[in-house]
Amino acid sequence: PVRVRFCPSPTGNPHVGLVRTALFNWAFARHHQGTLVFRIEDTDAARDSEESYGQLLDAMRWLGFDWDEGPEIGGPHAPYRQSQRMDLYKDVAEKLLAAGHAYRCYCSQEELDTRRDAARAAGRPSGYDGHCRDLSAARVAEYQAQGRAPIVRFRMPDETITFTDLVRGELTFTPENVPDYGIVRANGAPLYTLVNPVDDALMEITHVLRGEDLLSSTPRQIALYKALIELGIAKEIPSFGHLPYVMGEGNKKLSKRDPESSLNLYRERGFLPEGLLNYLSLLGWSLSADQDIFTMSEMVAAFDIADVNPNPARFDLKKCEAINADHIRLLDVKEFTERCRPWLRAPFAPWAPEDFDETKWQAIAPHAQTRLKVLSEITDNVDFLFLAEPAVDEASWTKAMKEGSDALLVTAREKLDAADWSSPESLKEAVLAAGEAHGLKLGKAQAPVRVAVTGRTVGLPLFESLEILGKEKALSRIDAALE
Ligand code: GLU
Repeated sequence: PVRVRFCPSPTGNPHVGLVRTALFNWAFARHHQGTLVFRIEDTDAARDSEESYGQLLDAMRWLGFDWDEGPEIGGPHAPYRQSQRMDLYKDVAEKLLAAGHAYRCYCSQEELDTRRDAARAAGRPSGYDGHCRDLSAARVAEYQAQGRAPIVRFRMPDETITFTDLVRGELTFTPENVPDYGIVRANGAPLYTLVNPVDDALMEITHVLRGEDLLSSTPRQIALYKALIELGIAKEIPSFGHLPYVMGEGNKKLSKRDPESSLNLYRERGFLPEGLLNYLSLLGWSLSADQDIFTMSEMVAAFDIADVNPNPARFDLKKCEAINADHIRLLDVKEFTERCRPWLRAPFAPWAPEDFDETKWQAIAPHAQTRLKVLSEITDNVDFLFLAEPAVDEASWTKAMKEGSDALLVTAREKLDAADWSSPESLKEAVLAAGEAHGLKLGKAQAPVRVAVTGRTVGLPLFESLEILGKEKALSRIDAALE
């Protein structure tokens, strides 16, 4: 049975790279009716935070992911927070030391640096040189007498490591490129290099799907796995698949620090989780050449890790918005109306009245649904309905209120006053006729009316907006504009 894991470290805000990794693991697990293990890699007390942990869980839920084992739901391999599993790692480290798969390394940082620089200068491999691999007892005693605190280092076997990456095919690493590496700090704290594969082994993970940035840890982990198998701690080496890099502006790797990588930004701007996930799935994968828009169930049904493209994927916010817009249109109108609610309240809509006019909202919502890229755009599109006076955008006002606008507004007001306010058609004819009287086409005649009534030059269809706002308010706004 397939067992995959999503194992972020709770540092900082959740970002889109993390979400893409979660998504591919989730889709893989669900496609194979396997198990998704959610594990928190919080062994770095200096960088991890409870706040970030809470945000991670909240993000996973908002995105609509479910997991089969993990925080809050538990499971057969609990606990799922590494900070609660420290004894296990200590035990494994001791076993590795006892079996000779690891050794204590007493080299100081300065010594390491000096030797590394010398190796570089001589054109030799610059990784750890194996200095402490086979220290004599006398040497160890000497180091101890000097008060040196050792780290624990894993002894890489002197052999080439080859594995078949699920995304990239066969990959080979020669020993000089994979030196012995630290697994426990001098203060006894176990490192990612140890805890991550140990937990994958203990949790019986069958497939490790993660970002390309972790590719270099894979040969080390495979070697460690072999040692764990020998010690009876692991059963078999999992398969590995490394997901492509995500590139941002200027063809640079999208970094956690780039504003568009923060998941919170997407939530605040009102991306739908299904729209965002649909877009993120395209970073390295596609459903078919001619279908960009799909549901998560369609993705699950079609997902094959072998179809993932190893080449870097380009992050394109415009495309992400366009896909989100399509998902907004796919909602049924009632659902759309509900999902917009947060943006019709404080803090997004500080103007939101206590006695929010539900009828007006229900009437305008269908017109907005076909026009929004993200839900937060609803706020500025409908505020004119709820504010006592429209929020005037100065630039729009100057643009629309040119010479002759007043005369047009006077005529438009007359015609609108005489129109039938129960039909947008009749309101349109009124503005059309006012335009004709001043030699203006509908588009030009509409602009000052729109600015007077809504405060802006662009927005939802004008005549429907007028009808929903109501005759009395609309006319008094035109009067105010004429003052
Ligand atoms: N905690 C690691 C990270 O967030 C997990 C890496 C992995 O998937 O092995 O980078």
